[in-house]
Amino acid sequence: MNTNEQGANAPSADGFGALGLHQALVSAATALGYEEPTAIQREAIPPLLQGRDVLGQAATGTGKTAAFALPMLHRIGEVAAREGPRPVRGLILVPTRELAMQVAEAVHKYGRLLGISVLPIYGGQSMQQQLRALRRGVDVVIATPGRALDHIRRGTLELKAVEFLVLDEADEMLDLGFTEELEAIVAEVPAERQTALFSATVAPRIRTIAKRYLRDPAHVTIASQTAAPGKTFAIREVAYAVQRAHKAAALGRVIDMETPASAIIFCRTRMEVDELTETLGAHGYQAEAIHGGLSQEQRDRVLRRFREGTSEILVATDVAARGLDIEHLSHVVNYDVPSSPDAYVHRIGRTGRAGRKGVAITLVEAREHRLLRNIEQHTKRKIRVESVPTVLDLRTRRLELTRAALEDALAAGELERYRVVVESLAGEHDVLDLAAAAVKLLDQRDGSEKDDLEIPVAPPLPSAKVQPSGPRQRLRAQDATKLYIGLGRAAGIRPADLVGAIANEARIDSRDIGAIDITERFSLVEVPASEAKRIISALRGKSIRGKKVSVRPDRGR
Ligand code: AMP
Repeated sequence: MNTNEQGANAPSADGFGALGLHQALVSAATALGYEEPTAIQREAIPPLLQGRDVLGQAATGTGKTAAFALPMLHRIGEVAAREGPRPVRGLILVPTRELAMQVAEAVHKYGRLLGISVLPIYGGQSMQQQLRALRRGVDVVIATPGRALDHIRRGTLELKAVEFLVLDEADEMLDLGFTEELEAIVAEVPAERQTALFSATVAPRIRTIAKRYLRDPAHVTIASQTAAPGKTFAIREVAYAVQRAHKAAALGRVIDMETPASAIIFCRTRMEVDELTETLGAHGYQAEAIHGGLSQEQRDRVLRRFREGTSEILVATDVAARGLDIEHLSHVVNYDVPSSPDAYVHRIGRTGRAGRKGVAITLVEAREHRLLRNIEQHTKRKIRVESVPTVLDLRTRRLELTRAALEDALAAGELERYRVVVESLAGEHDVLDLAAAAVKLLDQRDGSEKDDLEIPVAPPLPSAKVQPSGPRQRLRAQDATKLYIGLGRAAGIRPADLVGAIANEARIDSRDIGAIDITERFSLVEVPASEAKRIISALRGKSIRGKKVSVRPDRGR
């Protein structure tokens, strides 16, 4: 082997480069940060490149999409230079709409340098849009069986040029009752095609369809990821150090960063459930509360909406969540550290199922640090403790999402209507500036920047103690003013209540709150003069220790 000539900038010599894939595909994989092929890729890519059929047993999260997509794209090759409408040469059938979108995005990324165009086709999406794209010509179609068959019957999806067929998550397609659709679709594809069938299980009925659709396949089996805990644990576990006063805000921030597809948030009390459901609603999520106060009927309704995807987040007390039959959560969030390691393991076991990837997030206050260490000892896995993402992190993440949305829009085409606008402005403006302005509008479309308040960083764990009512003399702002708060000792008010309420409701750094003077009937709190108005309006109508507060500038006696 010619390893000497590979040089330092070709780390893929024994990685993707060695598989014999088109250079554009190796570059795409490298650009995505793939350093070396995963097991399923190492096993499945070589026989597929030789033109063999493959029967692969592998779950999501193993890298199976690239395992079939890269050889498919290799076979299709460079298409950029070709003229005119192109026939569909690759067909990938998947069970669900989500998977269709996900696989289409992956294939688009892998095939971009080859100029390959990709179209996801699934029910619920505009037929017109799909028709226009099909008419223009696409190289690879990723479809759910039902919608693919609709198009075939209308004569709008032509499959006689398909060279490479993939049945992805075949067991799921059978479970969903797509057997007949599959039969009808495969009958439209030329017999001399190459076929790959992937399934998480190879039950007898999978063998049956494999016999029908595959010719002398190479068998490739990758043990499920969960089989080797510790090394390839399917759940990403992370904890965030938070301060009590900023916990709800921290949760909102973490959820904004993660944009979960389906999450459950565990918290302790019914009041917390309601408060967090509201917080998340304000962040634009469809969140639903589950607690002991719901009737069976209400509970069923909430669960149905969640399963159907109408709502994406469930906020639940631990007790109410028991026995909830929910599959496939993308995220489990512990608003507090569960007090027993078993409860933790049980909760996070609701994500990362069937080889899917899952995320388990735990918010940790300083006083809960010990509980977290107990859990680590029990699970023998280290849980990374991070600080709550900053506004900058959030903006960066949002831009990433915007960027991905733009790539999707480019892949979907149908831009003629908008080109007119660009052309009319291009005479007067630099096209890059024009594009940047459009990105700005897109990025700020839901006014999300309004939530961009910095959340005070919690002291790193482990810390001796956090004193929410610590030294209050350190008011950082030069210009301080006093607020009159109509609750005092008689109402059970302590300094921490005032700091908590002000910091939380007005999102003020607690270090910016100065001296606090609590009398029997009222309290005086020193705050930055520039923030006084905002604090007053933030506290309007709110309660402290269960009592409605009145707040106004202190006019002295
Ligand atoms: P999949 O099992 O196809 O859903 O892939 C799971 C995740 O692994 C996706 O986010 C891929 O982008 C990523 N992935 C696939 N192949 C590799 C690789 N060779 N190295 C690193 N990540 C990969």
